Amino acid sequence: MRAWEKNFREVEPYVPGEQPQEQQIIKLNTNENPYPPAPKVAKVLESMNTELFKLYPDYQSKKLVQSLAKQYEVDEKQVFVGVGSDDVLAVSFLAFFNSKTPILFPDITYSFYKVWAQLYQIPYECPKLSNDFRIVKEDYYKKNGGIVIANPNAPTSIYEDISSIRDILECNQESVVIIDEAYIDFGGESAISLVKEYENLLVVQTFSKSRSMAGMRIGFAIGNERLIKTLNDVKYSINSYTMNMTSIELGTATVEENEYYKKITNRIIETREEARVRLAELGFETMESSTNFLFVTHKSIPAKEIFHDLNQRKIYVRHFNGDRISNYLRITIGTPEQMNTLYDALEEILKIKAR
Ligand SMILES: *Cc1c(COP(=O)(O)O)cnc(C)c1O
Repeated sequence: MRAWEKNFREVEPYVPGEQPQEQQIIKLNTNENPYPPAPKVAKVLESMNTELFKLYPDYQSKKLVQSLAKQYEVDEKQVFVGVGSDDVLAVSFLAFFNSKTPILFPDITYSFYKVWAQLYQIPYECPKLSNDFRIVKEDYYKKNGGIVIANPNAPTSIYEDISSIRDILECNQESVVIIDEAYIDFGGESAISLVKEYENLLVVQTFSKSRSMAGMRIGFAIGNERLIKTLNDVKYSINSYTMNMTSIELGTATVEENEYYKKITNRIIETREEARVRLAELGFETMESSTNFLFVTHKSIPAKEIFHDLNQRKIYVRHFNGDRISNYLRITIGTPEQMNTLYDALEEILKIKAR
């Protein structure tokens, strides 16, 4: 090791799902929305005055913040926006988790939480999900430096009832509790309704899944004014201009097109429920999902082999090597046409394996 390397902040980074540039690939590996953004988004983009790009954007992203405040019926001072919810979460970890007592998040959840904890040198503990991948709420009834829970959880797709979230908040009023609701629009009740009651609750959501805007990088948090002020203070201490002009404008147009997004979300939910039936017929065990993906395991063929064989047929799904989940596949819900191609491919693969 070179002398100057010993002070490096070493971290094992989060590994995102593959983003192939080839168009023919059926991409069911990163939980993107298979449907395009609302038509209004394209119109707003076409009408943008590129002359303005010579100026810095509004560092407060006021237009977007206002539209979100109106949509979720909270004060503008209760909304923070960032470059995807990954940015919002990264700033939140830095801002709120500064205790010697470990923060808590489940052993099986969004793998980025561990990466931020390591990067910022935040001590952490990971209470185990139950055998059927449920959060054991009592595990969070102990002293901690903060709590992060993805609800619905990823990659399990399971939603915990809002009453369990309330119980966890009731027992934790001395540390910040973050609920990551990346998938909430696909099922379940948002904890935003609890923000009035619990000053230490921060709810984080994203435009990447239900709002078809993963490429624009927009995420937001809703919480008490005091939390939001601290998030902004930390953000302005790193980079004042995180949200670019295009994201602010197109993000605002997106929030205003709620009816369109409800429609495509319902379509995805329908396709998801059909997928559960179809995959069960093919010998997969599926779980009830409240997200835009299914977490499945096959009765006889190892997940890794199915992953590989689908990959060769240009169908990308996600496989994780972690403890207890290495025999599962996470399959994003695509359009009905994409899903039919998936079922056909699986049928073929299983037939060959059964020989
Ligand atoms: C996708 C995802 C995110 C990050 O989404 P962004 O694209 O950064 O907004 C955060 N948390 C969970 C659980 C996710 O699945």
